Amino acid sequence: MARALSRLLFLWRPPAHLLRRRPLNPSTKPLSTRAKALASGHSLILPGDGRSPASFPSRRAAHPPPPDYGCGGSPGTIAAIVTSLGGGPAAVGIVRLSGTDAVAVVARVFRPARKEPESWKPRSHFVEYGFALDGDGSVIDEVLVVPMLAPRSYTREDVVELQCHGNDLCLRRVLRACLEAGARLADPGEFTLRAFLNGRLDLAQAENVSRLISAKSAAAADSALAGIQGGFSTLVKSLRSRCIELLTEIEARLDFEDEMPPLDPMTLLSKINSMKQEVQDALDTANYDKLLQSGLQIAIIGRPNVGKSSLLNAWSKSERAIVTEIAGTTRDVVEASVSIHGIPVTLLDTAGIRETDDIVEKLGVERSEAAALGADMVIMTISAVDGWTEDDTKLIEHVMIHKKSPGSVVPMVLVINKVDCTPFVAGEQFEKFSGIFRKHVHTCAVTGKGISELERAVIEVRGLEPIPSGGRRWTVNQRQLEQLMRTQEAFTRLESSISEQLPLDFWTIDLREAALALATISGEDISEEVLSNIFSKFCIGK
Ligand code: GDP
Repeated sequence: MARALSRLLFLWRPPAHLLRRRPLNPSTKPLSTRAKALASGHSLILPGDGRSPASFPSRRAAHPPPPDYGCGGSPGTIAAIVTSLGGGPAAVGIVRLSGTDAVAVVARVFRPARKEPESWKPRSHFVEYGFALDGDGSVIDEVLVVPMLAPRSYTREDVVELQCHGNDLCLRRVLRACLEAGARLADPGEFTLRAFLNGRLDLAQAENVSRLISAKSAAAADSALAGIQGGFSTLVKSLRSRCIELLTEIEARLDFEDEMPPLDPMTLLSKINSMKQEVQDALDTANYDKLLQSGLQIAIIGRPNVGKSSLLNAWSKSERAIVTEIAGTTRDVVEASVSIHGIPVTLLDTAGIRETDDIVEKLGVERSEAAALGADMVIMTISAVDGWTEDDTKLIEHVMIHKKSPGSVVPMVLVINKVDCTPFVAGEQFEKFSGIFRKHVHTCAVTGKGISELERAVIEVRGLEPIPSGGRRWTVNQRQLEQLMRTQEAFTRLESSISEQLPLDFWTIDLREAALALATISGEDISEEVLSNIFSKFCIGK
């Protein structure tokens, strides 16, 4: 009853015909001008730091009219160097312009190299060779110019790219010439922001553009690419339109109760159940996304001389760690990078953890313990030659004591190394501790035998299904994860409203909440704050 009353407070039901146009935003925070404009479908005004305001077309317009950035010069035409700067000389670098006056600005800066040069007339998607000039008419670079006229461009505005020599100096001079000719320097992410506002990309796709640019592994790049190509966006769009369809059906029954057949709760529940499953599948990709972005740290621990350094070297196919028969050789934590199914993994070879009076070794042991406790996973290594020893028991008890501190539950895998010397014999002590390891793997670090089984164990222990062949699939980031969880919670509440036979009004609250969360993912309903937060993380030129 209390639940019903508290939810009644939120009851609000717009007429059915308004459902599609009204911004579905019950949040208490008032929407900013831009967000209101975005949500309502009206054009919006961007603050223009001392320049004339630029009006953007509605984000919702499927085919927006050509943008109009106002009169008096070209305050709305942006320019930036879009290739990397400061990374040493490159053969080619690009200055990109976007906006109503992009062509006019380039016409002032570019002179075609034809026999009888006349002023430049762009032909969309055709390359022309010529010269970039400064304000005095002096040649500052030889360039290729590529016009991509609206709407067939990244931003859906007129875009012109000047392919210059890749030296920073050339690029900066050409950019300065464009700025002097009437463009202004683009803000971080402004090209992609315009692409989003003009309906070329939705917000989830735009976020993946940023991820693709900063991807540090092929798997992270593949996942971002899959996101740009719209796999996740299609799902979000489909879920939202199904929510709105259901909402419309329920609203229709509220408005015309007597004229329509009653809704079948079972059919409704099965539709919600299938949407929940799709949301869950998307949620399941978040764990993988986190690993793609931040990677995994694995600490290899064990007594001295069991083969930890050899294991790291064999795994990373390098000679990162020094291998000797002398116990206590590894005095500090040695790192090596490997990739397991596309996930970047940092292996930490630790000093053998043991009691010692040697001050330097003692420091190494302390660092090893810290590494083991801070890592995402621990690989405890023992030697088949010695079996499970008293020192192994001490070490694992030590780790277990620290593991008990809150938040330090580290999954552990046991590696039984040197199996080429002798088969491993499990003793009584081993039986006592073997259960705390999620997997046991037999290796010979000298030959690399067992490393692929070890990789499989890591994947299984972390609950990561291998990437499907071809490797391409999208994942959800933290912001999308939060909105998907909000969607899922709304579906769960809706299920109980239906099961408890609460009035139809209750059902609409949760459906509207789910639709709103989904619209936040795609950017159809988004606050200016969130929007500028997302795009400020982009680099200038994207
Ligand atoms: P750590 O102190 O645990 O890092 O051990 P090391 O990697 O330095 O290895 C100690 C010694 O054991 C070296 O002489 C290695 O060549 C040897 N060793 C390591 N792994 C194996 C293995 O799987 N089989 C054999 N036969 N020897 C190994």
